[in-house]
Amino acid sequence: MREAGRISAEALKAVGEAVRPGVTTFELDRIAHACITKHGASSAFLNYNGFPATACVSINDEVIHGIPGRNRVLKEGDLVSVDLGAVYRGYVGDNAATFAAGELSPEAKRLNDTTRESLFEGIKMAVAGGRVGDISEAIQRYCEERGYSVVRDYTGHGVGRKMHEDPCVPNFGTAGRGVRLMPGMVLAIEPMINGGTCAVKVMPDGWTVKTRDGKLSAHFEHTVAITADGPKIMTLL
Ligand code: MG
Repeated sequence: MREAGRISAEALKAVGEAVRPGVTTFELDRIAHACITKHGASSAFLNYNGFPATACVSINDEVIHGIPGRNRVLKEGDLVSVDLGAVYRGYVGDNAATFAAGELSPEAKRLNDTTRESLFEGIKMAVAGGRVGDISEAIQRYCEERGYSVVRDYTGHGVGRKMHEDPCVPNFGTAGRGVRLMPGMVLAIEPMINGGTCAVKVMPDGWTVKTRDGKLSAHFEHTVAITADGPKIMTLL
């Protein structure tokens, strides 16, 4: 899982470095695909329930599951969420980050920083003997205290030989509740945080999820193993 995670992280970094005004999300997807296959891995997303690309690329009010396209050209100030995963020797790595195309507005930057920070607040709670709800509450509190809302309709998840395994890891909940965390469990922790309402809608393409009020959304994700020595992030370089 460490190797699958490292490949996923490398691909995400390569895509992030390519995010700038004028680039198409299709080009970003090609970069992700090249990086994953170069390492002898395959995309965890391509053809998953019919998803047509290697990476999900979701811009501004798009929350998750955006489909890359040749006609999707990034503009100055776009908030660009990229989610991708690699399968290597039968194990899956899953990670996401939100990047700036050019210079973000102060509003977008604050949302993005808060979402990234909330992921690490959640990871801190991924310790043996705790509960899934400890992670959920830490993320929810951090974001709501700063005036943001937590997407309810999509959650983090267990990850291993399959991309989506039990347990469900919501970004909202109550500490001390839910599945007990034990060494050897691996979770994809992934806050999806909105600038306005938590309500979302799925677009007619059947994939792209947008905020209902058209306000911005950000997304960060790491694959995290629970060990006797505390949380270990698999998706680091
Ligand atoms: Mg995930």
